[in-house]
This record gives sequence, structure tokens and C-alpha cells, in this order.
Amino acid sequence: MSDCIFCKIVAGEIPAKVVYEDDEMMAFEDINPQGPVHVQFISKRHIPNLNEATEEDFELMGRILKQIARYSRQEGFSEAGYRVVNNVGPDGGQEVYHLHFHLIGGRPLQWPPG
Ligand code: 5GP
Ligand code: ZN
Repeated sequence: MSDCIFCKIVAGEIPAKVVYEDDEMMAFEDINPQGPVHVQFISKRHIPNLNEATEEDFELMGRILKQIARYSRQEGFSEAGYRVVNNVGPDGGQEVYHLHFHLIGGRPLQWPPG
């Protein structure tokens, strides 16, 4: 989608600190980090959110979650723990309508969210 910030990052039109990439997903540091680790794992394909996801998209999400777990091990904070967040729609606080999973870690996180 031409007006989507995350599609522009995928296309290289907006710079981002990319920490992982393959043919179907990308991971980059969040511009407004909420912890020492805050990485966005996104689909390369434009999927607005969970509500719009197809059967195929849900399979891709499984691979994205697997990569998140792998990344946390690689970076050495898997045992300390982390949080994976997917915001959906206005009540969920979704600001960017391109499927993404926040990986937040590197500090103890509070629960419940506000
Ligand atoms: P949402 O509220 O949609 O779940 O999260 C959107 C996230 O994208 C926010 O954490 C925000 O800081 C991040 N974000 C928005 N624009 C950009 C950008 O241009 N670059 C990067 N790296 N992150 C962005
Ligand atoms: Zn997009």
C-alpha cells in the first residue's frame, strides 16, 4: 500500500534499523522504544491486522512467532523473558495498520496494560 509506513520500510523508502529479514518478514527497531529491546516483526506483505488475515497469513504468523523466539535466544534474553504484543483496531491501540508484533524486553514489564 502506497501510504503505509511499514510498506515503505519494506521497500527501503523509509530507513529503519533492520535486525532480521527474509523473503516474507522483516524485523526492525521501533522508533519509540518502550524498553531496552523493542523490535517490530512485520509481514512483508501488507496485511492490515488480525481481522483481515487469511488462512495463509495465520501460517506466516506462526513463522513470525518462531523467529521472535529465535531472536530472543540469539540476543540472550529469552530466559529473562519478554513480551510479544499485537494491537488490533482502535480499542487495541493500533496506530499502524500493517500487521506487526512488538517484541519488548530487557526490563521487567508491568501487567495489566493500561
Ligand atoms: P501500534 O500502535 O500500531 O501497535 O504500533 C506501531 C509502532 O510503530 C509504534 O510502536 C511506533 O513507535 C512504531 N513506528 C511508527 N512509525 C515508525 C517508523 O517510521 N519507524 C519505526 N522504526 N517505527 C515506527
Ligand atoms: Zn503496509
